Amino acid sequence: MAFLINGLLNWLRSLFWKQEMELTLVGLQNSGKSTLVNVLANGQCTEDMIPTVGFNMRKVTKGAVVMKLWDLGGQARFRSMWERYCRGVNAIVFVMDAADHDKIPAAKAELHQLLEKPLLADIPVLVLGNKNDLPNALGVDEVIEKLDLRSITNREVACYSISAKNSTNIDITMNWLIKHATSGSR
Ligand code: GDP
Ligand code: MG
Repeated sequence: MAFLINGLLNWLRSLFWKQEMELTLVGLQNSGKSTLVNVLANGQCTEDMIPTVGFNMRKVTKGAVVMKLWDLGGQARFRSMWERYCRGVNAIVFVMDAADHDKIPAAKAELHQLLEKPLLADIPVLVLGNKNDLPNALGVDEVIEKLDLRSITNREVACYSISAKNSTNIDITMNWLIKHATSGSR
């Protein structure tokens, strides 16, 4: 069984990295973005630090996929840059730590502030409630509720409960991204 699942994941990985696609991966620090990238890439990818003033943006490039990653939060002064870095991407992936109940209000605020940017309207968003291997992690319905995802009506929104650590639901995450490879606003 594990062999089959691994086979499926590797097949999806090979499809995923062949898509011509630009993604932004954002979330609070410690939500699991770096871990997720490693799982998607299965180890090998090249990473650049973009020397931006004020916040660390990392850019991961592999095959035809470009992923821009950054930590949100505590960066009010740099919010004006969000628009610039998210503009024209095929999808925005928002990662949250579903087991860190204290940080949920902050995650919600950051997500909604990001999506308020007029130039980012229409870009599909995938919200990932990460760390579902932890016993106190919110389920997908609770994530939808606590992040008030139903109030987002100007774009397509999807939400999955995943574990980057255990590779749970990484297959459906890649599938969603592959499907959105050509639906960006570029
Ligand atoms: P980032 O700051 O968003 O890049 O977060 P990291 O990828 O560095 O992860 C932060 C911490 O959470 C690390 O200690 C990871 O090992 C841990 N972590 C990431 N994903 C998971 C997960 O799915 N389950 C659990 N239990 N821990 C995770
Ligand atoms: Mg990181």
